[in-house]
Order: sequence, then structure tokens, then C-alpha cells
Amino acid sequence: MEFRLEQKREIVTEIPGPKSLELKQRRDQYVSASVGSALPNYIEQSDGAILRDVDGNQFIDFGAGIGVTTVGNASPKVVKAIQDAATQATHLQINTAPYGSYIDLCQKLTEITPGDFPKKAVLFNSGAEALENAVKIARKHTGRDAIVVFDHAFHGRTNLTMAMTSKSMPYKDGFGPFAPEIYRAPLSYPYRDELSGAEAAARTIDMIDKQVGAKNVAAIIIEPLVGEGGFIVPAEGFLPALVEFANENGIVFVADEVQAGMSRTGKWFCSEWEGIEPDLITSAKGIAGGMPLSAVVGRAEIMDASHAGGIGGTYSGNPVANAAALATIEAYETENLQAEALRIEKTVREVLEPLVAELDVVGEVRGRGAMLAIELVKDSSSKTPNPELVKTVVADAISQGVLFLTCGTYGNVIRFLPPLVMTDELLRDGLSVLVESLRKHA
Ligand code: PLP
Repeated sequence: MEFRLEQKREIVTEIPGPKSLELKQRRDQYVSASVGSALPNYIEQSDGAILRDVDGNQFIDFGAGIGVTTVGNASPKVVKAIQDAATQATHLQINTAPYGSYIDLCQKLTEITPGDFPKKAVLFNSGAEALENAVKIARKHTGRDAIVVFDHAFHGRTNLTMAMTSKSMPYKDGFGPFAPEIYRAPLSYPYRDELSGAEAAARTIDMIDKQVGAKNVAAIIIEPLVGEGGFIVPAEGFLPALVEFANENGIVFVADEVQAGMSRTGKWFCSEWEGIEPDLITSAKGIAGGMPLSAVVGRAEIMDASHAGGIGGTYSGNPVANAAALATIEAYETENLQAEALRIEKTVREVLEPLVAELDVVGEVRGRGAMLAIELVKDSSSKTPNPELVKTVVADAISQGVLFLTCGTYGNVIRFLPPLVMTDELLRDGLSVLVESLRKHA
């Protein structure tokens, strides 16, 4: 694969460098303090799995803009599709003057989502917007109000999705009151609860039955691989048991695949790993190579529940974003990128898994495909979260040209979301920085 920027890390100035500092000064004056940044450096360009800052420093990108540039940043085919679409029209609006790319993309999404039943799709701009609309669709279809979400869940920052999100700081603190009829159920978190999938599902179903009542539930909404909450893979059998419970009780089962979907885990959608067929799937992030686009895809009869005009938005299904999504999906297929996700998983596990036995502070390495994480603890017997070590190691990595993102309800998880085009050489180089730092600070 050809890249515009050399795929290697390089630090040529102080961190942050002088031009970054200049931008920081203006940021402090003009940008709301409510916006945070993991990296103190300001990026000028990006290609593949490299971020290059305004001072010429190059970082290995293990974040992909929070799992967005899965296809690689500025992927040439996506760039070309964007350029071509933008010369035809920069904005078209489906509610006023319809156009073909909206149909093409919805058709493609119905083809690649799991489930061999008639499906339909609708397009939006952000992950949170897709979740908001999945709730609207499920409520309209069932005529019920209650929405069941889970411990450790993250679904967005709008008012309804804040209510659905678990963690208070930084997502909810001081931003209430929150939307009603949202019920939080226990998740399966094998490293911490040590329950089998069946046991964890029985606990969850009992809570729903007793505290909400199955007949009141419009939707059960869950991330099949919990992202922001700590890259938690529920124990095998947990998700299928919930799907069965939902089907038996007329509840719409929604898989929030905003972060885990679109080839990230080595399949089109993470739900496929356990063979579940969600009634609705929310998709965003890796769907369009960086263009703002999201979707709800699912059973045709549920998707048709709303009256015309009840669902939509001015910018939803922008033609340039649609073209980017179609090119991105084509790249996943033709460049065999799901196999690359599995190649990344193999290397990460090979390098990091031995650390669990070597260092008492490394609790677990987990995830699927190129959605992996390492959970750090004070010691393996107490499993007390160790967010301080996460902060130290991530800062250490930045000073050496590697950007890792963190996550977890307790802030003690380092997550790996590399673009699938990250070369093995770059991957191993970035991981070696992490391993050395863990050995030094453990
Ligand atoms: N759902 C999940 C699982 C997410 O990871 C995110 C974002 O990280 C969202 C929803 C919200 O997406 P957005 O930030 O595009 O609104």
C-alpha cells in the first residue's frame, strides 16, 4: 500500500512544539473550555496510521479519531469519492429533492448487516443521533416507553443519550435533568463479575422483569463490545440470551455498533461474532472514512413504524458523506480489511498477553479484531483500578510519538483502535513503547 506520509514516528521538537503552543494560546482565548484534547500537539495532516503535527512531529495513531478512520486516514479511494461527489453537489436534502446515493447506501447497509430478513435503513450525522432515532423507532413500533441500557454503557452526549450513558464524569455531571424511562441493567463483565454468560443474562433478565416489567420495554440497547466503558466483551452466551428474551417479549433488540461495527472487529458487525441478529443496528464512526454519517438499519416492519417526516434531519444522508461511505465500504471489501483487523489482533495479543503473567498491574488483555484494550490494576488479587498508571504510561507514549486513547468507567483501560492499514512494523513499534513504559512504571 502506498502512503503520502512515511509510516513512522518521529519527534523533532519539544512536546508540544512552538507552533502547537501558539495554537494552544489562541485556543485558550477562543475555544470553549468544555472541549478537551488527549494530545497537546496540533495536527496538520494525517495519512494511513500517522498523525503529523504543525511542527513536523509524527505520531503513531492508535485512536483513529475514536475509531473513525478504520479504513485509514485520507484513504485515496475515499478522498476521490468525496472530490467527485462534491463537484456534483455539496448538499442535497432527502425530504425536499431526493437523490440516488441515499438509496445506494441504504441498500448496501441492508446487505451487510446480519440477518436474512427484509431490512430498511435511515441516515443521520452522528452516533448519538442514530441512537436517539433508534429509540424513537422502537417506541413507535411497540407503543411502549421503557428503554433498557447497561452499566458501563456509552451512547452519546445529547439529552436522551446522556440518560442512556452510564458514567457521570465527564459525560453527565451538571447536565441534568435527564430523559425519563431509561432503566440501567447489569452488564456481563467477565474479568470483574466472574459470571458465565448464562448467569449474567439471568441476573439481567431478572432485573428487567422485576424492576421494569418485560411488557413495558420498548427496546433493549447494548454495545456488543462495550466501548467507552472499558472495551468489555460480554461472556459468551450473554448477548444471545438477551436476544431470545427480547424476541419472546416483543422487545426491540438494538445493537449499538457505533464503535464496534464496520469491520473494526474483523467482521462487518461485532454482533456476528455470537451469531446474533439484532432487530436494529446503529452504525457510525468507521462507516464513512471520517465524514459525519450515521445510520439505523433493521427489520423493515420496525423501520416503517414511523409516519413520513417523523424521522430525519437537514443534513442527514449528505451526498458527499454518502459517497465517502460507499467508497469506504467498498475498500473494506476489496482491500480485505477485515482480515487486517484479525492480523492486528494476532500481533497485539502476541506482544501484550505475556505481560499478564509478567506484571502484576496488567489485569487483562481483551477485545476483538482491531478493538482491543489492556486493563491496568494495582495488583491482580484486589483488581483495584489503576488510572494513575494509565495516565503515566499514556503521557510517556506521547512524548515518544505514540498516541493511545484511554477508556473505562474507572479510567484504567488503554484502548487500541488503530486504522486497519497500520503496518505490522508500525504496530510493533508502537506496542514496544507501551511495553517498555509499563515495565518501567509498574
Ligand atoms: N455509541 C457508541 C457505542 C459510541 O462509542 C459513541 C461514541 O463514542 C456514540 C454512541 C456516540 O457517537 P457520537 O459521538 O458520534 O455522537
